[in-house]
Amino acid sequence: MSKPKPKSKFWNNGWTIAFGAVIFSFILSILKDFRYKEPFLTTVKKIFSSIYQIITTILTFKINVGMILLTIFILIGVLFLIDKIFYSKVTEPIKDPNFLSYKQDILKRWLWTWDYKQGSNGYVIINVKPLCIKDETPLVNNDKYGLICPRCETRYGDSWYGGDYSNFEDINAITILIEDNIKKRFNNQ
Ligand SMILES: [Zn+2]
Repeated sequence: MSKPKPKSKFWNNGWTIAFGAVIFSFILSILKDFRYKEPFLTTVKKIFSSIYQIITTILTFKINVGMILLTIFILIGVLFLIDKIFYSKVTEPIKDPNFLSYKQDILKRWLWTWDYKQGSNGYVIINVKPLCIKDETPLVNNDKYGLICPRCETRYGDSWYGGDYSNFEDINAITILIEDNIKKRFNNQ
């Protein structure tokens, strides 16, 4: 994550003061003009003289070593604060929450396994897969028998187990159950 470029407060303040003083005196002179009903030309003259003042202020703005050092000091301070505030927040989720070890469970009579992926808003559950309940081997899809264990050859298709094992396809429902279990079991972690 790229760090936002900090703005030097010093420069902002320096220019603000310089311009602010000129603009403020200019506004004051206009107000004075209106008050004493001076001719409009005087105001125009003052506008040009103010522009001239602004330009000379820019050109004669001097930088001394103290200012440079102060700028560097403030910059380091700002960078340090940004690092403290933002970078620590970014690195915090790397400390794995305890629920990451919860990767297998029996839900709706099927044995499931899954993984976690770290997204921008925390962890998401991915790769939800059914396992053989006897030997925890990932099931494979067989054209003839439906889901079958490649190790013990137990068939998990509807024709074999009837209604008991008919909910395996609903991965979304299983994912919701996993999320709910995480909330209930790992609430205070
Ligand atoms: Zn098996």
